[in-house]
Amino acid sequence: MRFLLVLLLALPMSLSAQPDAAVPPPATAEARAVLVIHGGAGTIRRDLLDDATEASIRAALTAALEAGYAAIQSGASALDAVTTTIAILEDSPHFNAGRGAVFTADGYAELDASIMDGATGEAGAISGVRHVKNPILLAREVMFHSSHVLLSGDGAEEFALLRGLDLVPNQHFHTDARRQALDRVLQRQHEQQQSERGAADQDAVPEQAVPEWQLEHPAPWQMTGTVGAVALDQDGHLAAGTSTGGMTAKRYGRIGDSPIIGAGTFANESVGVSSTGHGEYFIRNVTAYDIAARMRYLDEPLPSAAHAVIHETLTESGGTGGVIALGADGTVAMPFNTQGMYRGYIDADGTVTVQLYDDE
Ligand code: ASP
Repeated sequence: MRFLLVLLLALPMSLSAQPDAAVPPPATAEARAVLVIHGGAGTIRRDLLDDATEASIRAALTAALEAGYAAIQSGASALDAVTTTIAILEDSPHFNAGRGAVFTADGYAELDASIMDGATGEAGAISGVRHVKNPILLAREVMFHSSHVLLSGDGAEEFALLRGLDLVPNQHFHTDARRQALDRVLQRQHEQQQSERGAADQDAVPEQAVPEWQLEHPAPWQMTGTVGAVALDQDGHLAAGTSTGGMTAKRYGRIGDSPIIGAGTFANESVGVSSTGHGEYFIRNVTAYDIAARMRYLDEPLPSAAHAVIHETLTESGGTGGVIALGADGTVAMPFNTQGMYRGYIDADGTVTVQLYDDE
């Protein structure tokens, strides 16, 4: 049997099965990593980032990777490494998670997060919190110290208090850049409503009529900066986590994919995934789990499964965004269909790779 396998592997490519023509080859080169992170997908272009901001974002991603790597090197579990890494990204104002989170339509930061342990299948998540300094820590508390998976709003905040987590005023999360983004969206919505009203007055439908649903359809720059991490520890276990402020000008109470296990975050014994993008599409497509399912049921390699889920399923449904995924053998996939995605990984030997744009 083993002889036959060796013989098959030795056959030239032309004699072996061709890859499925419907799935274009994955853009991401295979790497062997112990930690992969993202800092959100969206309109991320060289002409929109000045040198100082770009350097600062790359430094923040590198610092998070190095901190998570140090944890893994010192024997921490994948779950601990994910928690450490995401908490650092939450404290950076560059990302839409913790400090630097986007605003709801009524001017608050409302945060969602989740975490999953691939070794045990345990998970914890929180949504709609306004005062928890590090939402990923609360998601972890839900996992370890409650009998639930997902806590929301006041109940989640009270649980944070009981568990002794740091609580902060909502202003802690606010930044000028996110305030300006909210102002832009509200202005755009106002203009659309005015144009619809004007048309109604004239009893005519304008050529540029905007359907109601499109008022809530985000421009790509409305969804940049969610953070996520997937780690592989020295025991070969995987864990994944995601943290976000959601989408600019979302209705208060709106819950995206990030705290939904299977959509925003998933981990099992063979792959860990964290998503970023227009959450409603990731929920409907069960994006993070779909990668694991393709690997398990179709026996697809991780890069092809991740590529198909983003460039076929998500794209064909009209969704935008990307994922990071890490396999138990250290394989990395980071596909996205936006103009960029803040992303990076660190190899077992400590080599850091950080990329922002779609041509890197
Ligand atoms: N997926 C997040 C949400 O829909 C947003 C993002 O990743 O940028 O809440």
